[in-house]
Amino acid sequence: MATLLQGKQLTAKIKAVLEADIKEFRQRVGTVPVLASIEVGDDKRIGIYTSMQRRAAEGLGIEYRLKHFAGNITEQELIDQVHQLNGDESVNGIIVQLPCPAHIDDRKISQRIRVDKDVEGIHPENLGRLLLGQARVIPCTAAAAMELINATGIDLSGKNAVIVGRSEIVGKPLIFLLLEKSPTVTICHSGTSKAGKLEEFVGSADILVAAIGKPALIKGSWIKEGAIVIDVGINQVGDTLVGDVEFGTAQRRASFITPVPGGVGPLTVFMLMRNLINAAKLQRGFGG
Ligand code: NDP
Repeated sequence: MATLLQGKQLTAKIKAVLEADIKEFRQRVGTVPVLASIEVGDDKRIGIYTSMQRRAAEGLGIEYRLKHFAGNITEQELIDQVHQLNGDESVNGIIVQLPCPAHIDDRKISQRIRVDKDVEGIHPENLGRLLLGQARVIPCTAAAAMELINATGIDLSGKNAVIVGRSEIVGKPLIFLLLEKSPTVTICHSGTSKAGKLEEFVGSADILVAAIGKPALIKGSWIKEGAIVIDVGINQVGDTLVGDVEFGTAQRRASFITPVPGGVGPLTVFMLMRNLINAAKLQRGFGG
């Protein structure tokens, strides 16, 4: 039976480090770090994310400034708002809650965030730094998945790591994070499934990361005995949340597995706060 990898167990350690960093920041700068959050429209899911972010930020002593805009704001007006925050020296980091309404190009908005205020690590320069192994900020969900893998204490060198899902915030950044630990990395996507090869790749994984967004798409019986299973997926099925991996059977085969909810999710928001604090310190010429 697999050991559960629970995000909450790691957050206490991470929080202690962040609290010490914030204390140092306050002593040296005289203010607290500020995170500006842009929310467009009234999507309930985004409301859940922003309240989680506010709770985490304020719990650490970070100021969380939420800017809410009506769903009919134009793309140009939103870009102007981002520019305004870019120029506001009291703001250390900016996050745009995605997705924006359909008439707005998410990527166009996110890429206008000043590179040193990009706390999600999705600016092209920050992604380039990640590829070069010189990251200053790491996309939060990928960072959380990697923290959990590291928490197993297993040496990844020469192992097979398989990622399912190639999004820019999870799958793709994880390629580079994993490669630093020297496993052989394979990335699967819908084309792998269409070719009927997903089960075979999953079955070869010593480390499996599922970031798909389809409930229990990965069958427990596909999991290699002793694998580390990181389930990033969050899917609402009726009244419950489930991951992308069929949990019950997978838990019997894996050596470590993340539950959903309670695995990657609780850590992600603290990765955002870590990015903010690192950005704030770099802006003031210390840290990094
Ligand atoms: P995206 O929708 O951006 O990407 C999903 C990926 O899954 C795509 O690469 C897609 O392939 C692949 N995929 C879809 N269907 C299949 C299939 N049948 N077989 C193999 N691959 C498939 O999702 P995100 O990366 O944004 O999110 C993934 C999941 O993680 C979601 O459930 C989301 O809610 C959750 N999430 C959780 C977070 C947390 O904090 N725990 C934070 C962010 C996301 P293709 O590219 O070919 O279309």
